[in-house]
Amino acid sequence: MDAQKCLAACLLLLAAAPARVADDPEVEAAELLAKAEEKAAKGQHRTAVSLYKKIVKKYPATAAAEVAERRSQPNAFLGIADVMRSGPSSNRVDVVMMGDGYPIDDVDEYGDIVDDVPRVFERNRTFEEYLSYLNILRADVVSEEAGIDGFGREKSTALGGAISEGEQSQVTVDRALVRAMMDQEIPDNDGVAVVLVQRGTLGTGGGGVAAVAQREFDTLVHEFGHAFGNLRDEYTTYTGFRGDETTSHINVSGTPDETKVPWAHWIAAKVKGIGVYEGADGRVRGAWKPTTKGCVMGDGEFFCPVCREALVLRIYDFVDPIDAAYPDAFAEPIQLARDGEPIEFSVQVMRPATHKLEVSWWFLPEAEAPVSPPYNPELASAGARASRGPLPAIDAKPDQFGRNDKRGIYSFELKPAKLAPGHYSVICRAVDTTKLRGEKWPWVLKDDNDLLKSERVWTVVVR
Ligand SMILES: [Zn+2]
Repeated sequence: MDAQKCLAACLLLLAAAPARVADDPEVEAAELLAKAEEKAAKGQHRTAVSLYKKIVKKYPATAAAEVAERRSQPNAFLGIADVMRSGPSSNRVDVVMMGDGYPIDDVDEYGDIVDDVPRVFERNRTFEEYLSYLNILRADVVSEEAGIDGFGREKSTALGGAISEGEQSQVTVDRALVRAMMDQEIPDNDGVAVVLVQRGTLGTGGGGVAAVAQREFDTLVHEFGHAFGNLRDEYTTYTGFRGDETTSHINVSGTPDETKVPWAHWIAAKVKGIGVYEGADGRVRGAWKPTTKGCVMGDGEFFCPVCREALVLRIYDFVDPIDAAYPDAFAEPIQLARDGEPIEFSVQVMRPATHKLEVSWWFLPEAEAPVSPPYNPELASAGARASRGPLPAIDAKPDQFGRNDKRGIYSFELKPAKLAPGHYSVICRAVDTTKLRGEKWPWVLKDDNDLLKSERVWTVVVR
């Protein structure tokens, strides 16, 4: 290469390089922090820890050093990586896996177990159908000592793993520690964690956090039912005092009244196998469950219809049936000239494993369009789609129904040529009917807040 060409190349390189303040310790420390996180994600945990320590020493008083200091502790969060990425965290349930009682050289062993977790969800019929609605993340957490509290010993671990006191010796963790670590290290977490505990048996779950002894995969799904779905036990075995009275929950009732149990709509619909059966919530008397046919929340292999319905609705608290829409600006009306080109609207919808969402399009004068709650993407991120409430009915027949390609993309074309000038609404609605081939009943019978439905509305001004 001659000198002139070289100079041109060098100038190009300089122009392409990101703006960087020379010798800015904040920038250098941040770069090193990113490198440490990359090493942790690749499973090189000792390297990550030495980099964190280096940041603390070399770049004190920087923002990165504050993070690195925390991550250099004997009990610490080291980094996070995807195990199963189905889509953007803003529109998926992010299940964060964590480990407790794994010293630095054993964090790999924890990683091997986590690699099997997608298959654990896949083997359960409910989660298999909605697997693409979940992301599974591996948070690497180091503990100073191996094992957990119990057997007369106290161990120094990151998340307070312990053998619970009571009739059964199942493992627990300190949920406040789990939540604090998630909020500090994983800012956009969904408050859903499964902690694999290095010793002990069985597990416990509630309030978004499940604790499971490592490789107790049957227990994992049960505890996830508690933690994520707020489901109660459908078994009768006494596992410790739970109070004198049973208040009603999704799948356990404090009353045997068929019209008052939380699953009364399943009984009213005369769904076979659903009734009111005494013996649940760890007691033989005074608590009632919906089925005796077996449920994961009892000792069954699959979730009963009542629990399955609750889990699907809970998933839709975090996941909007419409994953993306184009054009993606809804605030500004779209101006259309009558002699102009046609315009195409499209949506990408979620795709359960064996059934398809239904998509309908309406093109209505704005005055005839229903007034819906405005689309707010923050609701799915926050797991609060239920707060949107139901969508108003549209009396008009849809102008288009279905017509998708294989990737779940549905489009609607608008030709302005024959339209009268005025304001119009293009409305797209997607709904998960939860009707699977060969099944008599939908998975969700009652959806008071229309969680299974989503809508996008574009305003079009024809001139
Ligand atoms: Zn159940």
